[in-house]
Amino acid sequence: MSPPLQHIQTSTTLPASADVVVIGGGIIGVFTAYYLAQRGVSVALVEKGRIGAEQSSRNWGWCRQQNRDARELPMASKSLDLWEQFAAESGEDTGFHRCGLLYLSNDEAEISRWASWGEFAKTAGVTTHMLSAREAAERGRATGRAWKGGVFSPTDGTADPGKAAPAVAAALIKLGGSVHQNCAARGIELSGGRVSGVITEAGVIKTKTAVLAGGAWASSFCRQLGIRFPQATVRQSLLSVSPVEQGLPDVLFSADVSVTRRSDGRYALAISGSGHVDPSLQLLRFSPQFLPMFAKRWRNIRPGGLEGIRGGHETLARWRLDAPTPMERVRILDPRPDASMLRKIHHRAVELLPQLRDAPITHTWAGYIDSTPDGVPGIGEVPGVPGFILAAGFSGHGFGIGPGAGHLIADLASGAPPIFDPAPFRPERFSASAWGKVADF
Ligand SMILES: Cc1cc2nc3c(=O)[nH]c(=O)nc-3n(C[C@H](O)[C@H](O)[C@H](O)COP(=O)(O)OP(=O)(O)OC[C@H]3O[C@@H](n4cnc5c(N)ncnc54)[C@H](O)[C@@H]3O)c2cc1C
Repeated sequence: MSPPLQHIQTSTTLPASADVVVIGGGIIGVFTAYYLAQRGVSVALVEKGRIGAEQSSRNWGWCRQQNRDARELPMASKSLDLWEQFAAESGEDTGFHRCGLLYLSNDEAEISRWASWGEFAKTAGVTTHMLSAREAAERGRATGRAWKGGVFSPTDGTADPGKAAPAVAAALIKLGGSVHQNCAARGIELSGGRVSGVITEAGVIKTKTAVLAGGAWASSFCRQLGIRFPQATVRQSLLSVSPVEQGLPDVLFSADVSVTRRSDGRYALAISGSGHVDPSLQLLRFSPQFLPMFAKRWRNIRPGGLEGIRGGHETLARWRLDAPTPMERVRILDPRPDASMLRKIHHRAVELLPQLRDAPITHTWAGYIDSTPDGVPGIGEVPGVPGFILAAGFSGHGFGIGPGAGHLIADLASGAPPIFDPAPFRPERFSASAWGKVADF
């Protein structure tokens, strides 16, 4: 049930040591390691399964500033430049292009929220165009519907989730970075209270700096070190259909359903913000901290089933470092998509864009969106564990901001001046309440 993903060949021989070891080969881990290698830092990246196979290949592919929270907007804007720069300097293809994002609505409250965001965005130098009813109908002519309004963000774009993380890993390898698939990090070796190595299933890599870019697995990994990282996951279901000839927009958001064209011409279909919360002991443990998040988003979230327990990413168990861990049992977190949700998405998409009616469904899948209580990622050295940098909880935004986040994490790991202010992302904030601080989608 996985979406398409490019394969890359990596090494089975671990280095004995590295300046920095990155745990996790999603978009965050590969960009972090790429920016480290680019500045001559020796870096090893270990991935328990395949590069990009979890959230980073299961997402919509949107790289957007539109409607971003003020805390993330500088990272989102810079990331768009970095996507382009990466393609130019590496020659690798992530499928990134600034196609612009089109939002259409018949809900006046929603349109006015977009308008106020546009006013705020102007102060940050971001251009976005509100659309009148006539302009919305014109830009959304493929829908054949009347719309009360919309917004078009011309400088935003998409990258291809099936290509992006492997492309960055390929560039990293060319720069001399050492990349290892099917290699889970089981734990961290500490000497005198600070990081001295990363213990993997294939041996120890000595290092003074470990970056945990483990996506949905980060909290259970932190727990092994006595670190409390509040994290919850939401399972979102998607499908894609084969290419259609008629000129549909590359990207179209509506409250009913959203469509995104992939670089091979398929359209990915999904409902924004919708998802299932699968109960787990970890969810129970952190639920008081997530009340503000659930209070804000409960309309779109449904109780799920046993997928979370089956996945094992939210285990509260302590594991041994000399025996297989839950991460080796589940190399790729590949939750089942919800069948009724898939039917709903397809039905709504065909109603919105009748041209999709005859396009066969090519793939169905689901992904876990890993979130923090305030919907903003946790990035920074964990207090009390010198050398251990957390980089997780990207809360449904991590793909588009991957390059900027990776750059920032590389700055922190190498002691370079940070590309933007890391303060909003500091892990220390997780000890405080998130009421009044939850980011919008
Ligand atoms: C359905 C869906 C739609 C989304 N849409 C968008 C979108 O349009 N735009 C956007 O910006 N974001 C979107 N997101 C969010 C985005 O995909 C994520 O925020 C981003 O991919 C997170 O990247 P990551 O590297 O942190 O995590 P992941 O991609 O999940 O990577 C983490 C990796 O770490 C590995 N790992 C974990 N533990 C270990 C260990 N101990 N040892 C070795 N390896 C380990 C895992 O195997 C995994 O490959 C969406 C997410 C989903 C699920």
